[in-house]
Amino acid sequence: MGEGNLIGFTDNFADNSTEAGFQFTFYCDICREGYKTRFTESKTYKKGRFFKGLGSMVSAAAQMTGKYNIGYGIERGTDVIGEKFKGMSPAWQKEHEEAFELAQNEAKEHFHRCPKCTKWVCENDWNEQEGLCTVCAPRINVEVAAAKAEKAVSDIKEKAAKTQVFTGKIESKQTICPQCGKPAGEGKFCSNCGAPLALIKCSKCGAENPAGTRFCGECGTKLE
Ligand SMILES: [Zn+2]
Ligand SMILES: [Zn+2]
Ligand SMILES: [Zn+2]
Ligand SMILES: [Zn+2]
Repeated sequence: MGEGNLIGFTDNFADNSTEAGFQFTFYCDICREGYKTRFTESKTYKKGRFFKGLGSMVSAAAQMTGKYNIGYGIERGTDVIGEKFKGMSPAWQKEHEEAFELAQNEAKEHFHRCPKCTKWVCENDWNEQEGLCTVCAPRINVEVAAAKAEKAVSDIKEKAAKTQVFTGKIESKQTICPQCGKPAGEGKFCSNCGAPLALIKCSKCGAENPAGTRFCGECGTKLE
């Protein structure tokens, strides 16, 4: 319990507590969407109801049920709460404070605090990748990543298309020399090293073997 903890979480909340119990709604600093904490029944109220019966407490409870939003800083918010529930017993006040503390811990799980602007924001307004709120770090980054992925795919496709054209040209116009490994040109001999490029036809089986081969790759006949 204490101010330190109160300041640790958003001051953008509504106190929905009544005499009967405690509940708070915490709002996202960006979209104002609220997270309502679990309702905790007041033990003081339960006891009182048990002993005194409902009676005059009903009207008091009715006055307490109004929701209200607090746009003030936390210190002031605490004052306002104090004032609103001034008529309540000290035991109830204590419960209320404790419930508020628990409610904050509960709500915190559903919010992120932007380290840049210090806003408390809901999941929807949180840029997980950047660790910042979507105001400080618009999801452009996410879109950029998607665009990048898309471009990568189109690049691959483009490259594949280009490669096909390229290999096509090599096959039709150029041969890689088996001797030196360099483009050999279109002649019968390598334009680079002069090695013969014509395929040697096997006299026995007719298979074509690369120039310089000594035995037929198909039947093993010695090539001339
Ligand atoms: Zn939000
Ligand atoms: Zn921010
Ligand atoms: Zn060559
Ligand atoms: Zn052969």
